[in-house]
Amino acid sequence: MLQRTLLPCQRRLFHSVRPLFNKNPLIHENGLYYGKFTKEEYDKAKQFVTTQYEKLEKDIKGTEHVRDKVGKMPQFPSRGPARGVANLLDFFQEMIKTTGPIPLSAYMRQCLTHPDFGYYTTRNPLDALGGDFITSPEILSVFGEMIGIWLYSVWTSQGSPKKIRIVEFGPGKGTLMHDVVIVFNKFVAKSAASVDIEVVMVEASHVLRKEQHKLLCNDNTYETTSEGFNKSTSKWNNKVTWVDTEKDIVQASDTANYVLAHEFFDALPIKSFTKTEHGWREHVVEHTLAVVNTQPKLEGTSPVQSEENEELNTDFHLTVSPKETPSSAIPTLSLRYRDLPEGLRVEICPDAELYLSHICNLVNGYSNGLAGAALIIDYGPADEVPSNSLRGIYQHKFVSPFYKPGDVDLSIDVDFANLKALAEPHLSVYGPVEQGDWLHEIGVGYRFDQLIKAANLMANKELIYDSYIRLTSKDEKGMGKIYKFLGLLPHKSTKPIGFGI
Ligand code: SAH
Repeated sequence: MLQRTLLPCQRRLFHSVRPLFNKNPLIHENGLYYGKFTKEEYDKAKQFVTTQYEKLEKDIKGTEHVRDKVGKMPQFPSRGPARGVANLLDFFQEMIKTTGPIPLSAYMRQCLTHPDFGYYTTRNPLDALGGDFITSPEILSVFGEMIGIWLYSVWTSQGSPKKIRIVEFGPGKGTLMHDVVIVFNKFVAKSAASVDIEVVMVEASHVLRKEQHKLLCNDNTYETTSEGFNKSTSKWNNKVTWVDTEKDIVQASDTANYVLAHEFFDALPIKSFTKTEHGWREHVVEHTLAVVNTQPKLEGTSPVQSEENEELNTDFHLTVSPKETPSSAIPTLSLRYRDLPEGLRVEICPDAELYLSHICNLVNGYSNGLAGAALIIDYGPADEVPSNSLRGIYQHKFVSPFYKPGDVDLSIDVDFANLKALAEPHLSVYGPVEQGDWLHEIGVGYRFDQLIKAANLMANKELIYDSYIRLTSKDEKGMGKIYKFLGLLPHKSTKPIGFGI
């Protein structure tokens, strides 16, 4: 027979529960143990603990179903700097130390839009004095005027819908929107038509939002709604709304959306991969100083360290992940990349695909007929897969993308062929056509001719002519070839101007 003996700890337990059966005054009649508390103290404590538990449960679970929050969480939460992290160098160093090398897209996202240290979120990169680059709308207002003419022509060809929204993704200083709205309003004023225009700016940077407000709204108030969006009224009396992401644009089926994105897609984070003998492997960012040849630099990305050229010395570098990462499933499964040869390197921009699908929804969102359009303008090859295009841009020069994280603009070639293929099932797609051709078809030559004739000083005539060359020339002096225009319109729309006769 099994001898039942008690271990010393079990004996202690037995002793402690024994009073239960003894009608000890500290024990409540229904068997609950008050310890050293009175019944009142016990009840109070119990109530407190119960409320705390309920609160904690609610905090964890939320009051709504967690799936309802998908896509509604702020992408750029405003909060104070992370404790103990004073810049992105520290941030990445700590992150890589904790998790190992990070995906390139994670590195880029923080460099570009980290709320406290991101490139776009902390400065005006287009500032005339301290800026890092200049874009077509900033060269001369003629660029925006041509887009205003295009928009007016598309709008009239679609029966001049009465309520429209002009949405711009990544509006920079607001110059393009400014020039577009002026021209559009001028043409509307000359016709008998009337239109209610709302301007929507999708902008991650609060620094740039303020610049845009200054340019578009003069001193009109700049309100912040309880959801964190900004609102104002333009100089021309249009409602202006700033939102963080495309998800914040409320669909309104009685409003036709006209979407512009100039040099926005090239500022989105990418993932990059190499096809190895074992399959697609993701490129990840490694902390250079923390490795001793375990994760070697990927050839052709980060230049060799150099004493003469400080800009070539970086604290981070790209390396090929030795194992599969969750993202390596993207090129492995996609028909576009699956069968590419071994040794090939590709850049994939999932964010661009997400933005594009939302742009398609906006253009297709009008229910009173065929109306709406989008114009995507950027640089990149017309039909190749971008391979090794990531670069840093700092003080009007190219530098390593790993130089001064957060102080350097990062930019990639836009994959036009992919955007086109993704949009085609939903919209009619025109282009990409080269900027020089597009501008000439709209009539940029006549406009420059007019301006040069009207300028009274020879020096001014030359300046205007220089701008014409910069905007349209197809050689290395100009942006006429590498920049491209992609037009998206609802199926069965009339072919828009600018994309060939
Ligand atoms: N379109 C302007 C500016 C181009 S710079 C021009 O051509 O002059 C890129 C712009 O996109 C900036 O306004 C930047 O703040 C914004 N931006 C970059 N990433 C963004 C993101 N993820 N969401 C919203 N805006 C973004």
